[in-house]
Amino acid sequence: MKACTSCGISVMEKYTEFGCPNCGEVKIIRCPSCRILGIPYKCSKCGFEGP
Ligand SMILES: [Zn+2]
Ligand SMILES: [Zn+2]
Repeated sequence: MKACTSCGISVMEKYTEFGCPNCGEVKIIRCPSCRILGIPYKCSKCGFEGP
């Protein structure tokens, strides 16, 4: 099960998954609500924060 990087809820579909723009080593997962609301995410490896 994958979890949203921002809010931690489990995501099943309609989520966005992409590599960290800074280090590229961590996969950022965002649920639809965090994406719509523009909740920032934080990379667990390098600490990069982005919208
Ligand atoms: Zn979320
Ligand atoms: Zn990173």
